[in-house]
Amino acid sequence: MAKVRIYQLAKELGMTNEELLEILDNMGVEYKSHASTLEDETAAAVKELIGEQRLAEEAKKAEEARKAIPHRAPVVVIMGHVDHGKTSLLDYLRKSRIAEKEAGGITQHVGAFEVKVASSSGTAGTVVFIDTPGHEAFTSIRERGAKVADIAVIVIAADDGVMPQTREAIAHAKAAGAKLIFAANKIDLPQANLDKVYQDLMREGIVPVAYGGDAEVLPISAKTGQGVQDLLETILITAELEDLRADPNAEAVGVVIESRVDKQAGVLASLLVQQGTLRVGDYVVAGEHWGKIRAMTDSEGARRNQTGPSTAVQVLGFSELPSAGTTFEWVPDQVAAKEITEERRLEREASAAAPEVNRPRNIADLLR
Ligand code: GDP
Ligand code: MG
Repeated sequence: MAKVRIYQLAKELGMTNEELLEILDNMGVEYKSHASTLEDETAAAVKELIGEQRLAEEAKKAEEARKAIPHRAPVVVIMGHVDHGKTSLLDYLRKSRIAEKEAGGITQHVGAFEVKVASSSGTAGTVVFIDTPGHEAFTSIRERGAKVADIAVIVIAADDGVMPQTREAIAHAKAAGAKLIFAANKIDLPQANLDKVYQDLMREGIVPVAYGGDAEVLPISAKTGQGVQDLLETILITAELEDLRADPNAEAVGVVIESRVDKQAGVLASLLVQQGTLRVGDYVVAGEHWGKIRAMTDSEGARRNQTGPSTAVQVLGFSELPSAGTTFEWVPDQVAAKEITEERRLEREASAAAPEVNRPRNIADLLR
């Protein structure tokens, strides 16, 4: 192999002769001029060094770009065994939120609500709770492959301990990639036994902080509100570690968390915006359905013209019911909306008509 000259290598690496000469100086390589030849090993070492430097620069740039994106509120789902207090906890959280407001609390069920957490210890922020009936939606959302919750609060009644649906909830939450926080509920009851909850969790391979592990188990009472503030702060701390961010300037993307037909209003869909900003007048597609957002209402019952990441709104504007768990995304106009949904419909029909062996074709189809 012909030996490479310095100016040739500089050209190959897309740098000036001066830049390369400086690197060679730093490496202690001797040369007469930029026309000097380099040993093969030297050329290889230079290339490796440059490659590493460029990777490091790219990583730095990517990190800077990520840091430029603002934080977003964590989205939390409450799960657990029947009668362990999921609804009571949601009710308590909703009430405490309304009590803080001055005016009467006429709330609107939009599938999620926000709780503002103020704290003396400096942990302040907003937590978004998914509030869909029975959390069936959460399961169906997960089955469709969408990720909705960043954190799952697993409610365990402290007078009962870990039960079959507790295990199910843990498995679901883990599979969904959510961080787990445990709430040992009904701590106000005399028969509440926190140690049993700890021991039950140990048996599931989950080691509570109290036992030297890293699983947060917060004793709470959804009835009296005891411990709920600690739970909220733990949620915020967990979210902080997750470093959740979303770009409000991106095109709106999110998940349909609920949908229903109202006799008067027509199709009502609850959308959780995960990225970008959704505006009245926007066109969105969700699976095979599309809509033009005619009106948006937030969980406070207020009309909104736009809404950003980690917020849920109920929207008017779909002509047909988009199913819960479907991802929605912004599209520029009606032409795009119609073409994309039509394409999806035809694709589905084609794959339904195709012989069994032809589907699913690849992993992307399996996850669609
Ligand atoms: P879910 O099935 O998980 O939604 O459970 P619920 O919220 O409906 O609660 C089941 C029962 O437990 C209800 O009778 C609640 O009043 C009661 N309950 C829930 N949380 C508490 C609590 O912290 N303390 C006490 N004493 N009772 C509770
Ligand atoms: Mg319930």
